[in-house]
Formats: sequence, structure tokens, C-alpha cells
Amino acid sequence: MWDSIWINAHLATLREGKYGIVRRAALAVADGRITWVGARADLPGEPAQLAREVNDCDGRWITPGLIDCHTHLVYAGSGVREFELSLQGASDDELARAGGIASIVRETREASEMQLIKSASARLRRLLDEGVTTVEIKSGYGLDTAAEMKMLRVARLLGESGAVTVKTSFLGAHALPPENQDRADAYVDLVCEEMLPAVAEAKLADAVDAVCDSAGFSAQQTTRVFQAAEALRLPVKLHADQFSELNGAALAACFGALSADHLEHANEDGVQAMAEAGTVAVLLPGTFYFLRAKQAPPVGLLRSHGVPLAIASDCNPGSSPATSILLMLNLACTLFRLTPEEALAGVTCHAARALGLGADRGTLEAGKAADFALWDIGEPAELAYALGANPCAGVVKRGIGVQRPD
Ligand code: FE
Repeated sequence: MWDSIWINAHLATLREGKYGIVRRAALAVADGRITWVGARADLPGEPAQLAREVNDCDGRWITPGLIDCHTHLVYAGSGVREFELSLQGASDDELARAGGIASIVRETREASEMQLIKSASARLRRLLDEGVTTVEIKSGYGLDTAAEMKMLRVARLLGESGAVTVKTSFLGAHALPPENQDRADAYVDLVCEEMLPAVAEAKLADAVDAVCDSAGFSAQQTTRVFQAAEALRLPVKLHADQFSELNGAALAACFGALSADHLEHANEDGVQAMAEAGTVAVLLPGTFYFLRAKQAPPVGLLRSHGVPLAIASDCNPGSSPATSILLMLNLACTLFRLTPEEALAGVTCHAARALGLGADRGTLEAGKAADFALWDIGEPAELAYALGANPCAGVVKRGIGVQRPD
């Protein structure tokens, strides 16, 4: 006998990156896993005889739980002063003095774990309210061993509530800390020889990330970080080619990266290499919008080479103070011209793959984790169409209703 069954629902299963619609469907769960998905008419019996608990969804839609596969959710401080100053016409010097990433690093270093948990929980709650059941969280505002480990411990603790699965990425190579401003190679030594081994030893990171860009680290420095990750058997991902063409996409692919993210300036060789390596492209439309960037990522090339497209919030204080995954769907469609179906696949099956979780979640299929969201919508494209609406009617995590349908 199954633990529970959801009936009177329409499903967007997202199998193989398509809507995969099943109308008048049923979905059954046992031991936190999906055990049966299909048309209700094909059920092998009456729901009440098949499962201990029957949930009537009243014609709502069910999708896989949404996945935000790129966030910097844990930090202290804010970018609001720079935001306001820049709109008052402040010069670059004045903006730099207002803080930038240096002020976030200073405040994050000074914050206690409890303070970081409190501020990050508030951001996480807004994502969960929109049907998110899995989120990736990066370090990268500590930039020394103790503070990076503190950020990752906080990220791990956020996942222990059970309401959300958290995957962590160590992003020591995010920016240069104030004490190492003109010594990038020495800082990369520290990342590779001290920070990464300590993080790996404490099992605090599920992956290793870096910023390979004019505003970050060179291809050579990124290679060193990736070699150190490889030696510790940690998968890699990369902030690649956001502001400049440093062949970050090809570098990520060369290391079999789970994902290459941003990609505004990626070239065709890089896209081809990603396709061959199975590296997912993570598009970050909130950042593109907030920075009023001009060059969009090469979506046509990524499509024609068959690179899976994921979408994420890039939630961070400097360039994407965003905690709405549904807004990202809309921005991916309006700014990058994704179809609503591609956008939804970008926060479900392809986002799962970008976290190495493709076999376990991201679609509604028997055997996968029973993480799903219920929606008051008439068709799946509404999730990308509406601005500022939240039609989420409930979230089920490992088969348990976080907010049950009434
Ligand atoms: Fe980022």
C-alpha cells in the first residue's frame, strides 16, 4: 500500500525537458519517493484502497519541486546604499567607497552563524513560498578559511530543517579579499592549499565554483582551483564569460563541469565543448536585468548544440537581490527569449542536472524524490507569463505536505 496519493490534478512531468502533460492524473508516493504517475483512469484500483492518504487537488497543476541551482543566499550586509547612490548619480569612486563586495565580506566575516542563518532563512523562505524544494548555496563572501567554512556550515544548517534540500558550493575564488588585493596568485595558493582541503575534510562542499572573468580570476588561476578540486574528487562549476571572453565555457567543459553559468560572452567553441562534456548552461536573467547588461547569452547557439538550459536567481546583494524564482522564469522569456516550456525545464530537470541530481529529482517520474509543487493555474505557461503573482498552492517535500492543498 502506498503512503499517499494525489488525485484530480493535471501534471507537468517535465520528462526529457518537455512539459510532459498528463491531464486528470494521479501521483502516488511511498517512503518519500514517487511510486506511480499517470492518468487516473489507469490506476490499478480505487485511490482509497491503494494509499493510506488521498489528497484531492481540485483540478490544480502539479510540477516537480522547483530548483534554484545558483545562489549566494548566505551573506551579511546589503547592496542597497550603492543602489540608491548610483541612481543619485554617484561616481564610481563614491560607489566603491560605499562598500561593494568588500563591505559584504567585512560584514559576513563579523556576523555570527546565528545572524547569518536568520538573514538567509528569510530569503530562503521567499523561494520556498514559490515552490522551490532544492537550492544551491555558495560561499564566497568569507574569503578566508574560517569565514568560508562558517558560510558553508550555515548553508548546511539551512538544509537540515527538512523543508528544502541544500547543495553547497565552495566559491573561495569569488573575489580577492582586502588583505590580498594585489596578490591574486598568492590568494589562489591559499584557496588551493589551505581553504579547499579544510572545506573538503569537513565535508562542507558538494562542488567547487570559481569566477573566471575580467572581474575575477584568469583561466590559469581557475585551472589551478579546478585541479585542486579534482584531486579532492569534488565536481566543479564556473561563473564563466559574464563580462569578458576568457574561454570560461571551454575551460569548464574541459574539467567536465556540472555547469557553466552566466555565459553572456561565451563563444561557439565553448558552447560546442559544453555540449560534448554534458555541461549545463545556467542562465541568470536577474543579474542581466539588474546590471542593465547589453549582451545576452548565446541562447540560439546553446539550443542548436543541444546544451541543456537551466535558470537560477543568482540571489546576491550586489547584482541580483532576487528571491523570486518565478520572476526569473519571466525574465528568461522576456530578456533571453526562452519559451515558457524551456524556462520551466530550466528550474526543474535541467537545474537538477546542474547540481548532479538529475537521476534523483527534477521530473515527476516513478523512483524520483517526491518533491513537487501544486499550482492554481490553467496551464503551465502561466508560471512564466505572470509578473509578481504567486500561484503556488502547496509544496510537498519527500512526500510530506509543507503546505497542503485544502
Ligand atoms: Fe553568482
